[in-house]
Amino acid sequence: MEVVVYPDPRLLKRTAPLAQVDDDVRAKAAEMLRLMYSDHGVGLAAPQVGWSARIFVMNPTGDAGQKGEERVLVNPVLKRRAGKVRGEEGCLSFPGIYVEVDRARQVAIEWTDLAGAKHEEEWTDWMARIFQHELDHLDNVLLIHRMSDTDRMQHAEALDDLRRKFAEA
Ligand code: ZN
Repeated sequence: MEVVVYPDPRLLKRTAPLAQVDDDVRAKAAEMLRLMYSDHGVGLAAPQVGWSARIFVMNPTGDAGQKGEERVLVNPVLKRRAGKVRGEEGCLSFPGIYVEVDRARQVAIEWTDLAGAKHEEEWTDWMARIFQHELDHLDNVLLIHRMSDTDRMQHAEALDDLRRKFAEA
């Protein structure tokens, strides 16, 4: 397993809900967490490792030592959102690129965990931002789709670099 970088078409492959949480899913989630920490991320969604499934991992601290902050969200659903806040986001599939993105400040969400238990919570600010960014990945919405025209111009060179590296690989 490795992190898939833009413009790899696997980032745009339609994702399917997971029918069950089994050892295979748990093993893949563990590997995703390992990759997330190794790339200094706070979230990683399945399409970013070439897995077209509705699951993502996150740790808002980005610190592998803080296991209590880790979450694995299987089949996450956004039920409600409220407020609006602008903030900077990066993405492990767009290394080195950071843009300001508008997100809901608060989200009401549901998901299943790796033990198969269902959860309902309300998250705000940083947690809500990570959730919305990772959910975007499951819906094949990427950081580049959240960029303004100005952002795209500002990051044109970096985006061209990524496209060139992908073409060469
Ligand atoms: Zn991302």
